[in-house]
Amino acid sequence: MTQKTKITVAYGDGIGPEIMEATLRILSAAGAQIEPEVIEIGEKVYTRGIATGVEPYVWESLRRNQVFLKGPITTPQGGGYKSLNVTTRKTLGLYANVRPCQSYHPFVKTKHPMMDLVIIRENEEDLYAGIEYQQTNEMTQSLKLISRPGCEKIIRYAFEYARAYNRKKVTCLTKDNIMKMTDGLFHKVYDEIGAEYPDVEKEHWIIDIGSALLADTPERFGVIVTENLYGDIISDIAAQIAGSVGMGGSANVGDQCAMFEAIHGSAPSIAGQGIANPSGLLNGAIMMLVHINQPEVAAKIHNAWLATIEAGIHTGDIYKEGVSKRKVGTKEFADAVIERLGVTPNLFNTVSYQAAPRPIHSDGVTRGPKKKKELVGVDVFLDWWNGSADDLGKLVEGIRTEGLQMTVISNRGEKVYPGGMPETFLTDHWRCRFVHPQGKAVSHQEVIELLAKVHAAGLDFIKTEHLYTFDGQKGYSTGQGE
Ligand code: NAD
Repeated sequence: MTQKTKITVAYGDGIGPEIMEATLRILSAAGAQIEPEVIEIGEKVYTRGIATGVEPYVWESLRRNQVFLKGPITTPQGGGYKSLNVTTRKTLGLYANVRPCQSYHPFVKTKHPMMDLVIIRENEEDLYAGIEYQQTNEMTQSLKLISRPGCEKIIRYAFEYARAYNRKKVTCLTKDNIMKMTDGLFHKVYDEIGAEYPDVEKEHWIIDIGSALLADTPERFGVIVTENLYGDIISDIAAQIAGSVGMGGSANVGDQCAMFEAIHGSAPSIAGQGIANPSGLLNGAIMMLVHINQPEVAAKIHNAWLATIEAGIHTGDIYKEGVSKRKVGTKEFADAVIERLGVTPNLFNTVSYQAAPRPIHSDGVTRGPKKKKELVGVDVFLDWWNGSADDLGKLVEGIRTEGLQMTVISNRGEKVYPGGMPETFLTDHWRCRFVHPQGKAVSHQEVIELLAKVHAAGLDFIKTEHLYTFDGQKGYSTGQGE
């Protein structure tokens, strides 16, 4: 008999305990070789005053077992509580969020009967770094961080996933027509890594039209790889149009650890009534079984679950008069799946699994060769509200060092001096760009001298950004109209 794999289990809040109980019962009946270690996270822990919702013994359990089956958690509103999901993903380095979204036509109502796609969302970077500032009375800022190793890990994972699960195409979604540095890097790395997978079809769409196509003709997609925020938004759209927010499972995978869950939340309005659909968590648990190398058990449960859906045995969220045969609660649904273990579906394709895609280790990312980096200027941001753009321009023109001279002032990224338009709306947040008049490199000392002069002129500089070139290529964007 195979040795049992220890897994950390959290029942979670709201409907969590009911759907976890049902899921573990199905896993046990199917012969899954697992040994659950139950921990507590979420609402009860938050209300004990622990802002992260996680106590130290939980991290020990997760690091020891490296596999986490998690029920949904209620995040209390306000009060400085941190999202437990974001904390867990980042602490454990779970860089890939994998969300299969499939429709189950004709048994579950959907406008997209042929939909069957997988969204692979970057899970650690982007605006989720949560580095935010209020810089002036009027202006707030959030940093969007996209790194080359971060892109390499998620994009390679997507291509490996496509190969392992026989998906023909990997689509990349970005907004690189606007964010040429950050989204541009994601797209560039996609092109580079994609070239190593000639057997997989590739396409790139700008996120806006890509999302429109997803909502209109989802059957045209196989695997979608995208950044954190875009992935967050499109995966909820995809789950919803598949017809079944209560049915999707999700995996969060890293080099060492992995976490499996339902995509839905704790549904407090139906908690404790025994009517919740356990399918989302069950589908997450099926992904977990593949991950811990128990593919036969995973397939046995998946096929029994499909056969149950086909038999019209449905929980209230997907029950439809004329299509469904029997309306059941959480427990009866689990019983129906258990009765069908060993049965294969009639209409749906029978599922079979092999082992999970090989893990992509971070030490496999390319970190070099190091490019030649030169400091060529500085952007000085000011909090200022004493006149027009021309007034500020004349004031700042007088501030210069031997190597640094102001060339342009922008407001919200739009050039306003010299030669701005009176129609342009202005805020109290200004960016003054200083570079060498002959385009030569400058020193940090020169920047310090410049800032001393800005200070002496009575101007409130709220931040600076250095302008660098890398092997002679500009490492910074230019303003609209610049
Ligand atoms: P939700 O997903 O809990 O519920 C949305 C709707 O879907 C509700 O009408 C609900 O009744 C229904 N629903 C969800 N799952 C169902 C199921 N298994 N069976 C039947 N119906 C189901 O979203 P929400 O109401 O926005 O959030 C509730 C709480 O869950 C919030 O505190 C939120 O922060 C949290 N949440 C947690 C996670 C997670 O732990 N991964 C994810 C999303 C939301």
